[in-house]
Amino acid sequence: MKVLKFGGASVKDAAGVKNLVHVLNTVGTQDTLVVVSAMGKTTNALERIIEVYFEDKKKVNQEILILKEFHLQIINELFESKTAKVVRAVQEYFDELIDFLKRNKAPNYNFVYDQVVSYGELLSTTIIHHYFEHQGWKSYWLDARACIKTDDYYRAANLNWEATQQEVQSHVKGKSLVITQGFIGSSSNNFTTTLGREGSDYSAAIFAYALNAESVTIWKDVPGVLNGDPRVFKETKLLHQISYREAIELAFYGASVIHPKTLQPLQRKEIPLFVKSFENPEATGTAVSKGKTLDPMIPCFIIKKDQVLIRLSSIDFSFIVEENISYIFGLLHEYQMPVELIQNSAISFSVCVNNKYKRLEELVLVLRSRFKVEVKEQVDLFTIRHFDTKALASIRKNGKQILLEQRTEETAQFVMG
Ligand code: ADP
Ligand code: ASP
Ligand code: MG
Repeated sequence: MKVLKFGGASVKDAAGVKNLVHVLNTVGTQDTLVVVSAMGKTTNALERIIEVYFEDKKKVNQEILILKEFHLQIINELFESKTAKVVRAVQEYFDELIDFLKRNKAPNYNFVYDQVVSYGELLSTTIIHHYFEHQGWKSYWLDARACIKTDDYYRAANLNWEATQQEVQSHVKGKSLVITQGFIGSSSNNFTTTLGREGSDYSAAIFAYALNAESVTIWKDVPGVLNGDPRVFKETKLLHQISYREAIELAFYGASVIHPKTLQPLQRKEIPLFVKSFENPEATGTAVSKGKTLDPMIPCFIIKKDQVLIRLSSIDFSFIVEENISYIFGLLHEYQMPVELIQNSAISFSVCVNNKYKRLEELVLVLRSRFKVEVKEQVDLFTIRHFDTKALASIRKNGKQILLEQRTEETAQFVMG
């Protein structure tokens, strides 16, 4: 089988869905598993519904109506006739969602979050499945929750690889064209779970791993992996080939074109990953596979915005040693602060973190009881892989102050603000 993944941007409207069919016509539909995200900004809209639900329930129905209209409009543009079946299916999902919110008594935000946001992918794949059938294709709609088995760590569920592999193989066996959802799975109690925002790339890799697929292609609004995000950097160049190791490093440092968890399962089975443009399906794009580290070997630029730099120093001029460092890391773990960069000296310790779960204030309060604490919010973390003098000079020219700098043989990092 080959696995194809289409993200939210590729199916943001009816034209996007038609283009998806065009891509499939170009690459073929045989022995293909298609993984699709929610349409456009649907996941953000569902996140708003959850917020409203916890703050002011009266506004929920209005928000749901807007989202329903968005999907019905796409259906209208896709199907000239015989739309009753798909409209009914979409209507049923919205009824189910409203019913869940009415009946739910669970106060657990993360649990409610997963039960609700998952509708984005259920809706998109249902519409696209019907559109496949409208083309005369024999399409099999697969509920990813029957296959992607996880623990119940809602919003960032961990995979049960063994159960998943078994379920995927038995559900997909004998089917030629399968369409399923990215991002979602289910716990052993059959409650819906999700794999974390932007997790559909990871879903594609999980399906590929379980199926021993020949390849995964993720279709994006860029020609492939470039040596920098074209929304941020000028004159970016296409990377033709990247090794798994290099791709993991790039994704880890924040090259958001590939979700960082995607690469490990593919590397384990040496399944090649192609990143291609859904606007130009015949172009070669980028291959992530065994082989050359990077082709062409050029500096790659990555920026993570809105990070936090925390500088700790001892109150009484005592050294910051292993014991304090282990205490600090314990707290960072407890307050769910992903660590991006660390640097220490005799009496100070600096750490650049991502305030992902908005728990900075709580953390700082605890740290102040043992250290002198300085916090600088909204800093940028720049990373250059395979830097050269010209690349380093370009960073220094961007007008911002360098607050912290660190270099290894392959990577230079700067915290700037
Ligand atoms: P999806 O539709 O699958 O969710 P994303 O929006 O997550 O796709 O990823 C595509 C975007 O990633 C591009 O529009 C681009 O702005 C951004 N991006 C960040 N870093 C890179 C990079 N190194 N190369 C290409 N695109 C990048
Ligand atoms: N729909 C989810 C999100 O927007 C998953 C994904 O698109 O990858 O985060
Ligand atoms: Mg996305």
